[in-house]
Amino acid sequence: MMDRQELVWALSRISAPVRPCHWIATPNGDNGYEWCPDCGYFKVRNLRRHDRKRRNDYILDGGWRTSHDSMPGCHGCGALLDGSLTSYGASSELDYYEEAGLSTDPKVDALYLSEILDNLPEDDGRLELAMSLARALLEKER
Ligand SMILES: [Zn+2]
Repeated sequence: MMDRQELVWALSRISAPVRPCHWIATPNGDNGYEWCPDCGYFKVRNLRRHDRKRRNDYILDGGWRTSHDSMPGCHGCGALLDGSLTSYGASSELDYYEEAGLSTDPKVDALYLSEILDNLPEDDGRLELAMSLARALLEKER
């Protein structure tokens, strides 16, 4: 039977593709949303156009993996973005699966479950639940 790390690897082989995760720095700080490269580019261009004096203070930042409290998605188009979960994020994403079970999209489940398994804190106590969801998914996809 596959262990935790093997499950993470097996899930990532069938995971939905993700795009690089960006955020936008503004003169008033981060605007709080995550963006794919395309939507981020257009959003920055738009912000600059509406604030010409401070146009150079709007910057498309990021493009690398960071930790999030929930799985990141593009605020513009909804694309799945590349990122890992904090331990809080892993526990709360697992709440959803505990309540609702696997979704109808195995590739998205594979993405989420691999991040949950990778980041679930030891004191969560639901590692077995996460591993059995992962096994059920892999079994279905074989
Ligand atoms: Zn987008």
